[in-house]
Amino acid sequence: MPHSPLPLISSPTSMRSTPSFQEALASHGHQPLNAKSVTTLQVNVGKVCNQTCHHCHVDAGPQRTESMTKATIDQIIDVLDRTPQILTVDITGGAPEMNPHFEYLVQQCRIRNRHVIDRCNLTVFYVKGKSHLPEFLAQHQVEIVASLPCYQESNVDQQRGKGVFDRSMSALQTLNTLGYGKEGTNLALHLVYNPLGPTLPPPQRELEEDYKVELMSRYGIQFNRLLTITNMPISRFLEDLQESDQVDSYYALLEKNFNSVTVEEVMCRSLISVGWDGRLSDCDFNQMLDIPLQSDAPQWIGDFNLPNLENRRIVVGPHCFGCTAGSGSSCGGTLT
Ligand code: SF4
Ligand code: SF4
Repeated sequence: MPHSPLPLISSPTSMRSTPSFQEALASHGHQPLNAKSVTTLQVNVGKVCNQTCHHCHVDAGPQRTESMTKATIDQIIDVLDRTPQILTVDITGGAPEMNPHFEYLVQQCRIRNRHVIDRCNLTVFYVKGKSHLPEFLAQHQVEIVASLPCYQESNVDQQRGKGVFDRSMSALQTLNTLGYGKEGTNLALHLVYNPLGPTLPPPQRELEEDYKVELMSRYGIQFNRLLTITNMPISRFLEDLQESDQVDSYYALLEKNFNSVTVEEVMCRSLISVGWDGRLSDCDFNQMLDIPLQSDAPQWIGDFNLPNLENRRIVVGPHCFGCTAGSGSSCGGTLT
């Protein structure tokens, strides 16, 4: 499919302009970024959340009202029915489970034999009316990816709110009793680390070892993998950077650590992000920045058309340096 030349997107919240991500790609011998396939639908079912974390790139919280309707979910199911190439549905939010149709979406995906990922904040299990979730997720063999930015209470509560650490430990223990995080159960439980401040994450494997030792010795908790994710300079994390006058130094850190090897693996090359209103984006970050797909691609889930989405030109901006810095970063952790 021919691609029309695209303007570079400038970060709407930063005055930085050089070097552009596109220039960084070219200077390392890469072509402009194109998708390779669409094997994952990442579905953002809304911005409602029971937490208000400092770093949240979705700006989610209890006061938000944006939530995917059942009609839009049915459009997603229709896409799955006619697109066997999509193997995974990665459900995110907000707290995805706060959407009243969350269980319906999971059930319909599983009926169609799709792998389902729930990006779970763990504390949602303690929201009124949500206590059935651990058993529900286990029953449907949903992979859980749960944020836990540290194994120390003070750091977690500082970033995610008072009492979050204790409830997270209880939730993980409950999941372990159901078989999550244990060998041979087919119930994957992964934890997510992101730095508390404007630094790159430490090496994933070494940090995973530390988490495993600490969580087992202190709380008897098991999990499968730790995913380290770089903070994106957008939304609340960007506001923090602005308040501390560290926007330029953080971008400089990301640019200085541009790692050419990660480019092949950035997640937009194999997924499409669906917003709560059904709008399509190259990734969750572009969605939050209101950056649409390239203009000749379908823009809404109701217009989903695989041949026009595979091999599309990806719309990049300065925030993309967050995916290619150091070991790389994606919703699945490091890229190298
Ligand atoms: S739990 Fe996740 S979605 Fe909710 S506020 Fe925290 S980072 Fe945002
Ligand atoms: S932010 Fe990352 S995933 Fe999104 S378009 Fe840029 S490189 Fe791709």
